[in-house]
Amino acid sequence: MALVNENYLKLPEYYLFNEIEQKINTFKVLHPDASIIRLGQGDVSRPLPEAVVTAMQNAIVEMSEASTFRGYGPEVGYNFLIDKIIKFDYQSRGVNLSPDEVFISDGSKSDVGNIGHIFGRDNIIAITDPVYPVYENAAIMGGRSGYVTEDAIWSNIVYVPCSEKEGWVPRLPKAKVDIIYLCYPNNPTGIALTKEQLKMWVDYAIENKAIIIYDGAYAAYIREDNIPHSIYEIKGAKKCAIEIRSFSKTAGFTGLRCSYTVVPKDIIGYTMYGECLRVNQLWNRRITTYYNGTSYIVQRGAEAIYSKEGQKQYKEIIDYYLENSAIIRRELSSLGLDVYGGINSPNVWIKTPYKMNSWRFFEELLYDTAVVCIPGDGFGHKGDGFFRFTGFNSRENTEEAMHRFRKWMGQ
Ligand code: PLP
Repeated sequence: MALVNENYLKLPEYYLFNEIEQKINTFKVLHPDASIIRLGQGDVSRPLPEAVVTAMQNAIVEMSEASTFRGYGPEVGYNFLIDKIIKFDYQSRGVNLSPDEVFISDGSKSDVGNIGHIFGRDNIIAITDPVYPVYENAAIMGGRSGYVTEDAIWSNIVYVPCSEKEGWVPRLPKAKVDIIYLCYPNNPTGIALTKEQLKMWVDYAIENKAIIIYDGAYAAYIREDNIPHSIYEIKGAKKCAIEIRSFSKTAGFTGLRCSYTVVPKDIIGYTMYGECLRVNQLWNRRITTYYNGTSYIVQRGAEAIYSKEGQKQYKEIIDYYLENSAIIRRELSSLGLDVYGGINSPNVWIKTPYKMNSWRFFEELLYDTAVVCIPGDGFGHKGDGFFRFTGFNSRENTEEAMHRFRKWMGQ
């Protein structure tokens, strides 16, 4: 008799974004002619930068000829891409990494989940609230969540509340934790941490022999000066932080799939008997066993964003999304709503009018205007009473959604 992983039974039936899709589908059945605008969407809408397309076309030609054909590549990624990442994303910001500290993957969502495999089940996990729901889901699936308490939270997860009053900046946990998921610039609040704010977490992790899993999926959107683009800009972080970055929102790779995870060799994990182990070695072992490498063609495409033209092209696309976010900020602020984020991030986080709860707001907005937001509650209890819009739709749709919103608010 094959037994299933019963931790899966603890999960809600649908992952947040699938639940939203179900609700949109019901709306479509009832209103087949409505022109829906997904302004909460996490997917990008602009096509790939030209430099990426050209590089991939060249890679396909190589694959079509016997002399340049490539089969299995290195599981951890090709050096041509790793070297560019180190040079452009790290050395340029004063961070030195060696090639065997960078692992190319097929998307940061996979690595956010998979990284749990190399850590013991008894670690106490800390998650900020609200945040990207995959961290909590991964803790549940990995058997690290415990049971649901009377407050409807998981007993073994330490939630780090982020509040409007404190500008959505997380405070250090009072309890001692072992693994900390941080996501900055944050999804969904759109806020970024300053060097001083992030340093508190690095110091905490070093003091408590904890490890930070730093999700920098939106690093390319940072525009303000005092915001670190990488956690390794903070002294000591190479001893305690794993950084996960993605090409998805940086250069339109949501459909292509490419990301990377940095696991510095200085990070130490412990056995139950206090033996020290390099986490880098464990991750390398996992990757080389379970993964056969991101496609050569896709890695050549990712490499192209670091070329002169590639950089110019992807930055223009990010500017376009950030301008959409600025339009959302401006419009909704002018309607008297409390608006956060959208400056160093495509994510704009808004308080619902009339203190409506998030899901009710989601339904009313959808049924009255055919505009889709993401309800804040989907990112954690502290997100209730808020919703997320993003700058990822087209300019026309963003403007049209704002027009409908304004009309809906009676202005
Ligand atoms: N991390 C965060 C914070 C995200 O918001 C997302 C996607 O929306 C991801 C990771 C997943 O990115 P990828 O496409 O690289 O899997």
